[in-house]
Amino acid sequence: MKSIDIVVPAFNEEACLPRFYERLQPVIDALDYEVRVIFVDDGSTDGTRRVIGELIDRDPRISLLRFARNFGHQAALTAGLDQADADAVITIDADLQHPPEKLPELLAAWEGGAELVSAIRARTADVGGFKRLSSKLFYRLLNVISPVSLTLDSPDFRLLDRKVVEAVCAMREQSRFLRGMYAWVGFESAQVPYAEDARAAGQSHYSLRAMLVLALSAVLSFSRVPLRLATYLGLSVSLLAFGFGVYALSMNLVFHQVIRGWTSLAVLVSFLSGVQLLTLGVLGEYLGQVLEETKGRPLYVLSERRLGAAGSGARAAGEEAAGAKSSGRESA
Ligand code: UDP
Ligand code: MG
Repeated sequence: MKSIDIVVPAFNEEACLPRFYERLQPVIDALDYEVRVIFVDDGSTDGTRRVIGELIDRDPRISLLRFARNFGHQAALTAGLDQADADAVITIDADLQHPPEKLPELLAAWEGGAELVSAIRARTADVGGFKRLSSKLFYRLLNVISPVSLTLDSPDFRLLDRKVVEAVCAMREQSRFLRGMYAWVGFESAQVPYAEDARAAGQSHYSLRAMLVLALSAVLSFSRVPLRLATYLGLSVSLLAFGFGVYALSMNLVFHQVIRGWTSLAVLVSFLSGVQLLTLGVLGEYLGQVLEETKGRPLYVLSERRLGAAGSGARAAGEEAAGAKSSGRESA
């Protein structure tokens, strides 16, 4: 029988998790696969760990990875992928915005030959106009400036074949934007539409700041355009400045009009310093990213790993291998 790992990142989802499990359980019971559910507790400060512990006691298919602190959604997904050793891995949010009832459809597309099946948001829950608009604009922009093309409206609700998991897990960059990385590795892909629900409980953990950080790491790791932009900007401003220099000189030498031009000077100086700072800023961002990467730190730190009976029993041999592999990767 083929095996499936379901990776569920959870950060302060105490209220959502029981409902999530209630809806997931009948779905996985009906599946003709060996299923394991890996919850990744991303350093929650509420009762998330306790709730997952209770689920583990009830259902041997459930495992828990707990982070020593909050490392973020992308790190949590990465930890789940590292731990997973099944033939296919499904990533799904714990807040029920991604309906678990779609799993059979994702699996059918996989059985049909697709190696990367993305669930595409056909109808958005009422998440607020700003979030929707900013995310639309962002993906459009990213598609224009980066060499990989991203699917619009496809959050981290996906099925990945073993091959895709291996490829993505081999990429250990700090600045992680998994959606971009899936697009970068390629593979045969398919899409399954779904209607997004409202969050089951609580609030989104993606603050404006978190969204900006994710957007910045997406741009910086998938596009050299901002660097080039700095070059072009510098070049065109230099040309303009040269033209202005010729004009100023001829005014002085030919027309003998010594300009009282404080205004132009002030404008020029401030404009040029603006351009310089902008350019330096762009360079600094990339340099900062190089610094982060050269430190070679692990992408997350685990404080606990609790494998359900199913995880440590039936697939024990594979488990050991996966554990050894992932710790090797973490320190690599
Ligand atoms: N999440 C996480 N770490 C974080 C933020 C979020 O593991 O730092 C999880 C969260 O518990 C949920 C998923 O990632 O299962 C998506 O987060 P959320 O629903 O807050 O984001 P949104 O759906 O609003 O984009
Ligand atoms: Mg959500």
